[in-house]
Amino acid sequence: MKTYQITVLKGDGIGPEIVDQAIKVLNKVTEKYHVRINYQEEYIGGAAIDATGIPLPQQTIDACQASDAVLLGAVGGPKWDSMPGNRRPETGLLGIRSALGLYANLRPAVIFEPLRSASPLKEEIIGDALDILVVRELTGGIYFGQRGRNTVDSVESAYDTERYSVTEVERIAHIGFEMAQKRNKSLCSVDKANVLESSRLWRETVIRVSQEYPDVALEHMYVDNCAMQLVRNPKQFDVILTSNIFGDILSDEASMISGSIGMLASASLGKNQFGLYEPIHGSAPDIAGTGKANPLATILSVAMMLRYTLGEPQAAKAIETAVAEVLTKARTPDIYTEGTQLVNCSEMGDLVCELL
Ligand code: NAD
Repeated sequence: MKTYQITVLKGDGIGPEIVDQAIKVLNKVTEKYHVRINYQEEYIGGAAIDATGIPLPQQTIDACQASDAVLLGAVGGPKWDSMPGNRRPETGLLGIRSALGLYANLRPAVIFEPLRSASPLKEEIIGDALDILVVRELTGGIYFGQRGRNTVDSVESAYDTERYSVTEVERIAHIGFEMAQKRNKSLCSVDKANVLESSRLWRETVIRVSQEYPDVALEHMYVDNCAMQLVRNPKQFDVILTSNIFGDILSDEASMISGSIGMLASASLGKNQFGLYEPIHGSAPDIAGTGKANPLATILSVAMMLRYTLGEPQAAKAIETAVAEVLTKARTPDIYTEGTQLVNCSEMGDLVCELL
């Protein structure tokens, strides 16, 4: 039997509640597909500050590095808001991403058919359903480039630098093309090559890498046009490949098309299929402990883990199918509509398990 080691970082707020449901579902599906998972739980964020005084203990990093994948809930909350910048829970999140060398961020923007009316876009724009994957470069570009301030003739200026090497673009482009191969074989690379030199290097490199993927149709789009097309005609996109800053903005825009923050999963990948999987939402302190949290984003993150790190696409699909089915009859309060059964976080986890 294949055995995998998963480090579990439940974090703060609703983190523990939603991660418990995801583990319940993972246990159920892996039993069916004859896979064994060993879990090791570690602290991150506010929970780590309370237990050890810092948001990212070395023990947590070591455990993650020794595992096949990491499942994360969410971090942060009002209890730690007054801590100094480098001791805040969110520092733990940035720290773990960089300690694990996670350079590719995958954010699916999916609208399940029963939730079509939750989208802020008109139903005729969305069609039957929507399924876009944004592949964002995560460890380069302007967020990590040289920055500073200077004063000339008593006028203060500040600058940040967008810089990409061919190697950085190549490795994220390979991830984009591989994802497209697993989906509808269509990739749109987004840049600002009409203005930025770094974007021109990005585009040349993506074109060169594309020669290794003749089965994938490659298109280029300027970022301003892409932002417009996402709300005008989102169905034209399958995989969107882009830089750190453009991906930050476009993935938020794409995910909001789905209309419900409690439904959106994400993966951050490093070398050798290693990945950290987490919902895109935060720790929702306003509903923590009330049972109102929607666990589906975390459950869908586990499906991504099965697909991208554990190499179990059928188990991943089984979870996604169960989630689509459960939405036709039961909802947590954030996505509730009349005619469906109102359930709490743990009941939602149970229902997904029943459908597996
Ligand atoms: P949030 O995503 O936690 O919550 C925004 C709103 O969405 C809230 O009304 C919340 O109740 C609701 N919501 C979020 N997830 C939900 C779910 N699964 N089910 C039902 N409703 C859900 O964002 P925020 O309120 O801006 O931030 C709260 C805390 O989370 C802050 O400390 C912030 O720094 C932190 N945060 C952490 C992450 C992360 O861990 N990746 C991401 C964003 C924010």
